[in-house]
Amino acid sequence: MKNITLVVPVHNEEKNIREFFKETVKTSERLGPDYELSVLFVDDGSRDNSVNILESLSREYDNVGYLELSRNFGKEAALSAGVDNLDCDAAIILDADLQHPLYYIPQFVRKWEQGYDIVATKRRSIKKQPLARRLGSFLFYRILNTISEFKMEPGTTDFRLLDRKVIDALKDFKEKNRMVRGLIDWMGYKKVFIEFDAPKRNDGVAGYSYKKLFRLAFNSLISFSLFPLRIAGYLGLLISTTFGALLMFMIVDKLLFMQFGFTPLSFVVVANAIFCGIILSSLGLVALYIGHIHEEVVDRPLYLVRRQKKFNKNRRSVVLPEAAALLMK
Ligand code: UDP
Ligand code: MG
Repeated sequence: MKNITLVVPVHNEEKNIREFFKETVKTSERLGPDYELSVLFVDDGSRDNSVNILESLSREYDNVGYLELSRNFGKEAALSAGVDNLDCDAAIILDADLQHPLYYIPQFVRKWEQGYDIVATKRRSIKKQPLARRLGSFLFYRILNTISEFKMEPGTTDFRLLDRKVIDALKDFKEKNRMVRGLIDWMGYKKVFIEFDAPKRNDGVAGYSYKKLFRLAFNSLISFSLFPLRIAGYLGLLISTTFGALLMFMIVDKLLFMQFGFTPLSFVVVANAIFCGIILSSLGLVALYIGHIHEEVVDRPLYLVRRQKKFNKNRRSVVLPEAAALLMK
């Protein structure tokens, strides 16, 4: 019997929780007796009746648990709280508003049984989303994938199954500014994508404002790439070399050809530009050090092991003496 836990962040979802729970019961039946499905709700500072509903659900059903955060920390923090408290063979992260249809879960589990560590999803249709949001998402992935060494697939969602080893690895990530989905993508492991159609939110309004989304996107860009830090340095190098070359040209012209008649002021202006370039390059140099500090502070694991085979210490070594005997002959 394998344990699968659904991790569900909840922020003002009083109208959706029971509906969501009904779906989990159906899913559990579809999965059959080989799997034990439980649900871990994480209440992220709801101001409506959500917590009371979670409390009564958890009293009614053994397979329902919940965490109540002390205030609203945001979905990423709520997910992390959920992940930190998991003890199961696999977990599935999904939204409480039924935009991540539980219908796909048996498919996730089949992929997992085939040996995939992460079953991730891609939205097939995002037509219902406003243009600004689609544009924002497009730009985010474009920029991130250009400037960062690691690639994130556009159109993916948080709706994912994670094997136990991925969950355990995720617990080791200590960084505060995080995008859980980005971290999971960063990790590697054996991953497969499933496409799905996201329906409209079941009830209520989306809690993610443009401001929050922008902050999330900006934070991810900064935490997955040091390129923004280096921009000043590159600009500085460009400016000082260009104007350095110009100054050389002006000096040569002044001393030998007298073609252009550069005024003393023009020399001052160009020299000044060179100094600006030098200052910017020094900023870039400082930024390189800050980048190192950033990496140390974030303290992301240096590597993750997917599988290992240990030595069998008790096995009698036969090869070495035989080889030695051969050599003695
Ligand atoms: N959520 C949360 N904390 C927040 C905002 C949202 O835990 O501050 C939860 C919310 O209850 C839902 C999921 O995160 O289960 C996705 O939120 P939402 O539907 O508002 O976002 P969208 O569908 O636009 O991504
Ligand atoms: Mg939603």
